[in-house]
Amino acid sequence: MTDLTKKPCACGGEMGQIIGFVPRPSDEGLTPVRKGWYCVECRAWEDAILRETTVENI
Ligand SMILES: [Zn+2]
Repeated sequence: MTDLTKKPCACGGEMGQIIGFVPRPSDEGLTPVRKGWYCVECRAWEDAILRETTVENI
């Protein structure tokens, strides 16, 4: 299984995942979704797309 919690950045640094929450109508809870990855070294941002937004566990 691929680790999507972090990924290498073009600058040589490491991008960390950013998690957001969306309302869940079924029980009024919140579903965690992966918004994308952020690099603190060069402040680059990469959007998560499609299946990448699914958070398996936190
Ligand atoms: Zn970077």
